[in-house]
Amino acid sequence: MFMSKKFLFFFFFLFLLVFIKVFLSSQFLTFIVVSVFSFFVWRKANKRNLLPSSCYPSNDEKKKNGNCFGSSHLQQFYETYNISLPPMLVLATDLDETLIGVCDNETHEQGEKRLKQFNEMWLTQYAPKNCVLVYATGRTFEKYQLAAKEWPLLKPDILICQDGIKIYWFNKQLANLVESNFIHKSNFVDQSTQEDFILFDKAWDEHLEEIWNQQYVETTQSEIISEYSSQTMTIPIQRGRVERFFVCGIAKTREIAMEVAKRFKDKITQHNVENLSKNSNFVKMDIHYTLFARSNNSWFVTVLPSRAGKGGAVSWVQSRLYFGHNCDHKIVVCGDNENDISMLTKSEYCSVIMNNSTSELINYYEEYKHSRNNMIKTEQPRTLGVIEGLQYFSKIVK
Ligand SMILES: [Mg+2]
Repeated sequence: MFMSKKFLFFFFFLFLLVFIKVFLSSQFLTFIVVSVFSFFVWRKANKRNLLPSSCYPSNDEKKKNGNCFGSSHLQQFYETYNISLPPMLVLATDLDETLIGVCDNETHEQGEKRLKQFNEMWLTQYAPKNCVLVYATGRTFEKYQLAAKEWPLLKPDILICQDGIKIYWFNKQLANLVESNFIHKSNFVDQSTQEDFILFDKAWDEHLEEIWNQQYVETTQSEIISEYSSQTMTIPIQRGRVERFFVCGIAKTREIAMEVAKRFKDKITQHNVENLSKNSNFVKMDIHYTLFARSNNSWFVTVLPSRAGKGGAVSWVQSRLYFGHNCDHKIVVCGDNENDISMLTKSEYCSVIMNNSTSELINYYEEYKHSRNNMIKTEQPRTLGVIEGLQYFSKIVK
């Protein structure tokens, strides 16, 4: 699975030599076989470059900014350090307005400086102690790369995108260890590029697919959008297309967003009832919705498989990293918005609610702060809040 391009070419030349030796008297046959084989080698090598070439920075840009997925300091660290399972601690942090971002009166440079402070702390105090860094973002894989260009992010060990729809593993050692624990399942699809090791978590994708009917969701989405078209329900341009496992729209108010989400849920329930009456083996669709505020006071409503959401994806990663081991108080989750609630409300995780969180999240904190001793609201906002939460909870990790 992890065969590099160099190995492919090595086997190609080995193959070429053997054929020349064996079929010396049959040059035409040798030519045909070598040509076919060359074609497949070329195809395999090119398939690995799945991202548009414009994504890759020039050498000068790389020196200045690192690569598409963040600086590779963490990966360089693992070249001399052996990670083992289970990890001592996992930090799963949201990005926008949590690990990255600035207040209105601050400059981008100030935000960068704080992020570098976090990076330094992670590289010197946490990575050497067998800790794993996970980013759990609402951004798509492509938009994550924009964040990595804009901010001096470390390339993480694991990246969770689109509110838990997709999971990518960047740490080769970690992926190999996990794969050795799950030898009977299909696990990863290699999407590595010339510069980056990337494994797409295919088993997670299949896990979501079990409870999701894409065709039905697309039809339902069209129906609901036309129902609410008079109430300013629109789909954002960049997400205008229907994506797998992900339906979203924008509502002017939280109330309309909530109404749309409930309408979706009702239709799915009706679909399940109708199909179960026809076939008792029918696997029910199960959805989960989140609402979160946008900067212009409108509201995003997203509908996902119930197993997804950031909480579901972090649990999946946890089950792979802590296979057969207790993870209590070893997962620290940080967030600021409603799409972080699914991971912040897991009682076995240490929850860090940012000082700059939305009012809905602050209300959640106020309601449950006395019943959960593993949840804090930080004094500091954004990056400094993540540092504060990490330092606070790492004191109690044994
Ligand atoms: Mg956020």
